[in-house]
Amino acid sequence: MKAAGSLTSNLEPHSKVKRYRHLFGPVNSRRLGLSLGVDLVPYKYCPLNCVYCEVQNTTHLVTMRNEYIPIDEILEELDHFLISHPRLDYITFSGAGEPTLNIGFGRVVQHIKSRYPEYKLALLTNGTLLYDPVVKAEALPCDLVLPSLDSATQRGYEIINRPQKDLLVQELIASLIAFRQEYKGEMWLEVFIIAGINDSQEELIALSRAISQIRPDKVQLNALDRPGAEEWVQAAPLSLLQEIKAFFQTQFTTPVEIIAKAAAHLEYEGSADMLAQISSTLQRRPCTAEDLAITLGTHINEVSKLLRELNTAGKIEHKREERGVFYLWKA
Ligand code: SF4
Repeated sequence: MKAAGSLTSNLEPHSKVKRYRHLFGPVNSRRLGLSLGVDLVPYKYCPLNCVYCEVQNTTHLVTMRNEYIPIDEILEELDHFLISHPRLDYITFSGAGEPTLNIGFGRVVQHIKSRYPEYKLALLTNGTLLYDPVVKAEALPCDLVLPSLDSATQRGYEIINRPQKDLLVQELIASLIAFRQEYKGEMWLEVFIIAGINDSQEELIALSRAISQIRPDKVQLNALDRPGAEEWVQAAPLSLLQEIKAFFQTQFTTPVEIIAKAAAHLEYEGSADMLAQISSTLQRRPCTAEDLAITLGTHINEVSKLLRELNTAGKIEHKREERGVFYLWKA
């Protein structure tokens, strides 16, 4: 879901040379279309440590808000990027961890909404801070909020999301219900399925009850498509996702969709260049996604997306080593 804030992105509309530390993309996201990512926290601050996290284990398991990245730096980069009014479907708060941990989150939302009202804002969040009335108020102006809820039992929450010790799933569900009651925008609830963990009848019934109360606009079933934080997590088969979708549709009326794999569509020339650079680097030596991001001076989310495309095309494989997941070029 997220990636490294200390890394840089060098993509910009029309490939002008400008390196950003807190913006990444725009990437052609499977859910959001052409999306400019904004990182509000460094790698890797999050109240959760999800076993499927694509940017690997949480190093700072925190719930306290702070100005983890100076907001003035983020606003300066946004102004630089948006001055030419590039075409975007969304500006998305995502990145290396939980965006609402940055105490300046609301300031960034207000800045964009007042200066660039033509852009829609999306917030990818694990929802753990939405209990806080300040965070809730800051998130209300977003056009699309995409919270996650992978289990509605404390046992499932602890196995899958490995939360900071004070976090209770019932409080998360209550926060999502309360947020939905005030929030006027779109809410898409993501449920990440792990076979053998949250696909039992008990788990699915508990999730159905929670979803019926939260009343999102849609539910999106997700599954692993590149290595997560823990090796034992495997991609749930499509047949299982289809069964769960069918079951959910007997339990509530909210539409359920299975998130398809990313379309291999490259919007910017810079992405094609980057794909070639990743390919030639991997042809010479195996690297982690973070190695590639540092070597190529781009954001780990960008690298992750392109690795996914190479993986889907059968060009690379991966191997887990002590230092992380290494990607290897297939001969
Ligand atoms: S909420 Fe989970 S998936 Fe998202 S950044 Fe945190 S640990 Fe990763």
